[in-house]
Amino acid sequence: MSDASAVTVVGSVALDDLQLPSGDFQDVVGGAATFASLAASLFTAVRMVGVVGADFPEASLSDLERRGVDTSGVERTKGTTFKWVGKYAANLASRETLDTQLNVFADFRPTLPKTYREAGYLLLGNIHPSLQSDVLSQMQKPKFVAADTMNLWIDIERAALGKVLAAIDCLIINDEELRQLAGVHNIRQAAKIVRDLGPRILICKRGEYGALLFDDLGIAFVPAYPLETELDPTGAGDSFAGALVGRLAQLDRFDHTALRDALGYGTAVASFCVEGVGTDRLRSVTPTEVAERLAAVRALAS
Ligand code: AMP
Repeated sequence: MSDASAVTVVGSVALDDLQLPSGDFQDVVGGAATFASLAASLFTAVRMVGVVGADFPEASLSDLERRGVDTSGVERTKGTTFKWVGKYAANLASRETLDTQLNVFADFRPTLPKTYREAGYLLLGNIHPSLQSDVLSQMQKPKFVAADTMNLWIDIERAALGKVLAAIDCLIINDEELRQLAGVHNIRQAAKIVRDLGPRILICKRGEYGALLFDDLGIAFVPAYPLETELDPTGAGDSFAGALVGRLAQLDRFDHTALRDALGYGTAVASFCVEGVGTDRLRSVTPTEVAERLAAVRALAS
């Protein structure tokens, strides 16, 4: 795969403890970079940046490699892997963070391999905004840079996040975080305020209500796919972002039409993520299943 259409992805690589309506699950392989890389690898070559501790199963990294994800930029260290502990409400629509342990991410300073720096597309997945900036500064000349973030960083690292916002093309964020970042409730006003901070393109994820795209041409909408079985929404947002940027890289375009197309793929792939615990379902999904679900998503709105 040429570097022009490869995606470099940075973000957390985690062992999550999940309290779900279906039961409690410990040390589930997750993290923003893991979900996003898996999703993007359905479309293009992926170079993953992150750090894991001695407790992280090497088999999970080998599995990513088999799917075309380069993990040579994932540092293996002696410490303890990033951990997130989350508790979901019975309807899965809301969740509470019980604990976030940065562990090996606390002083991670990545050095990107050469092929990573040359990738045409960059996804700054959810992690400390200074780390996102560090990775961006090492890239040679990415054509398209997208970023995600979350409430924790909006709360405690606003200045560092501001630097990221000023340097990216596209922000992918959920509606609550968008409101928090902008300081207003109305989504259209919030999108305008945040686009004025830097990103020309803003994509607002609204869970079961779909996603909105704001760019210079106006607003576009894609509905969420209504699932019969919902097990675990963890990583759905990262899968959405990974599939979206992976699809843009595959097309090697990021105009309004390409963005609308990629929104559909993001939605389709994210829906699979929710059908399994952790990365379970995402790892088994086939390109044919993705195509079928994309058709179903498009049919919903036609
Ligand atoms: P999502 O459900 O798409 O928001 O992503 C869930 C993933 O984000 C989990 O696998 C967590 O390990 C990871 N995560 C949770 N909190 C953070 C954080 N503060 N920074 C980076 N990743 C996080």
